Amino acid sequence: MISILRTIEELNHFRQKISGTVGFVPTMGALHEGHASLLRQARKQSDHVILSIFVNPTQFNDSKDLENYPRTLETDQILAEREGVDALFIPQYNDLYPDHYLYEVIEKKWSHLFCGAYREGHFNGVLTIVLKLLNLVQPHSAFFGEKDYQQLRLIQEMVKAFFLKVQIVPVETCREADGLAMSSRNVRLTPKDRQRAPLFHQCLKSAPSAQAARQKLEEHGFRVEYIEDWENRRLGALYLGAVRLIDNVKIEH
Ligand code: AMP
Repeated sequence: MISILRTIEELNHFRQKISGTVGFVPTMGALHEGHASLLRQARKQSDHVILSIFVNPTQFNDSKDLENYPRTLETDQILAEREGVDALFIPQYNDLYPDHYLYEVIEKKWSHLFCGAYREGHFNGVLTIVLKLLNLVQPHSAFFGEKDYQQLRLIQEMVKAFFLKVQIVPVETCREADGLAMSSRNVRLTPKDRQRAPLFHQCLKSAPSAQAARQKLEEHGFRVEYIEDWENRRLGALYLGAVRLIDNVKIEH
C-alpha cells in the first residue's frame, strides 16, 4: 500500500520508520511514461521509492503557464501505485517555503544560458526546490530525466558544490513512437500541432548544425527560441501555438 504524505511531519515519520536505501523522484505531477521510467530505475536501485508531486511556483516566470500547468493527482496516484512507489509526498507551498522565498540557490553562469536566457529565475527556482526536497527526503539517490538536460547538469553541479550526500542518476529521455519527447505539456497541443511536433526531434537529430536545425524548423512554421550545441548535445526550445516544448539529443556526427 502506498503511503500518502501531505506534511513534512508525515514525511519525517515515514522516513524514520524505514531502513535500507531510498530512491527519490521529484516531479510536478501530470505523470506519464517518462516519469514512470524514472520510477522504474529508482525501484531497481533502491529498497524504497519516494515520489514527490509539487508544482513549484518559484520556477515559473509566466503566471499563465503556472495556472495552465496540468494537475491530475488522481491518475498520478494510480500510476505511482502501479510502479510500486512506497510513498507519495504532496506538500503545500507554505510548508516548503516557510521563508516565502527569501532564500534561494543562485547559479551564476550556466543558468543564464539556453532555457535560462528565456525564463528568468527559472533555474534558481528549480535548484532551490530540489535542495529543499533533497534535504527533507534524505535519499541515497535521486533520479532526473535527460529530457531536461540543462536542469540535470545544474543539479549535478549543485550537489558537488554543496557536498550533498546523494547520488544523482540521469535517466534517458522517454519518447512517443514518433519520437516526440514525452512531456506533461503535450496534452495541451492541438491535434494539428501534435501531428507536426515530432519534426522537432527529427530536425535536432538529423540537421548538420544547430543553425541548420533552426532554419528547417522555422521553415516548418515553428517559433524557435533557441537551438544550440552544448556538451556534445544539441538542445532546443520552441513554441507550437501557446505550448513550449524542449528537447535535446546526443550529437552523433
Ligand atoms: P517534471 O514533472 O516535468 O518536473 O519532470 C520531473 C522529472 O521527470 C524530471 O527529472 C524530468 O527530467 C523527468 N522527465 C520528464 N519528461 C521525461 C521524459 N520524457 N523522459 C525522461 N524523463 C522525463
